[in-house]
Amino acid sequence: MSLRRDFPGEKKSLAGMADDVQELIQRFTPFLTYLTELQAGWPVLEMEKLVGEAGGPEQVACITVDMVRGFCSEGPLASPRIQGIVPAVARILARAHDLGVRDFLFPQDSHPPDSPEFAAFPPHCLEGSSQAQTVPELSSLPFAQHFKHFPKRSLSSHHGTGLHEHLTSRHRTRMVAMGDCSDLCLYQLALELRLWANVKHLPWEVVVPASAVQTYDLPVEVARGLGAMPHDGELLHLVFLYHLQLNGVRVVADLV
Ligand SMILES: [Zn+2]
Repeated sequence: MSLRRDFPGEKKSLAGMADDVQELIQRFTPFLTYLTELQAGWPVLEMEKLVGEAGGPEQVACITVDMVRGFCSEGPLASPRIQGIVPAVARILARAHDLGVRDFLFPQDSHPPDSPEFAAFPPHCLEGSSQAQTVPELSSLPFAQHFKHFPKRSLSSHHGTGLHEHLTSRHRTRMVAMGDCSDLCLYQLALELRLWANVKHLPWEVVVPASAVQTYDLPVEVARGLGAMPHDGELLHLVFLYHLQLNGVRVVADLV
């Protein structure tokens, strides 16, 4: 079966349409409509079912990326949209713990002062700073002694963090990926898990509950005033979760 859908000659290239925004909007409307329908169709998954399918709680890892103060409440990259998923993340972690899961992994930004990433993003989450700390709503959970932290210096939770080695150190079948941002570190985390499982024939199913994932929003007019690049949080959240699903990640509306 061919999945090729680009029929040369039927559509003008984007370059030729750049000065006709209405035509662009018209062209994108069916796909954007599809994305909203996709989102509306994501099922709610019961954690008990997930643990059962996994073969037991010891086969489940809950990986929560960048739920730190620097993306929720403090500093230049803090976003109320990301702060807004804290209760869902806490609830899902607690449900997993209730069912016997103990593998709680936290890859989190922890940058040196001269981090090369600061060429693209303003300085944030310096190692040892309060911005680099797990949000208090999670670090105060009664089972937080099981949390294992993996400091990271880039969007990748895998490069140079030890997460990869931890995950492959014993048999696991389910990876629940949560946190932020939908299009940045969470996307890199979930896709890399899927790619590594594909390369190594690992029996991993990567599960992303949309309720516990989010990204920041920077409207065009605000971004222009700041001299920054705009970022439509709603659109990019949806497009990147679509893209994870396209690549075999199991996206669900919520885990309960
Ligand atoms: Zn960073």
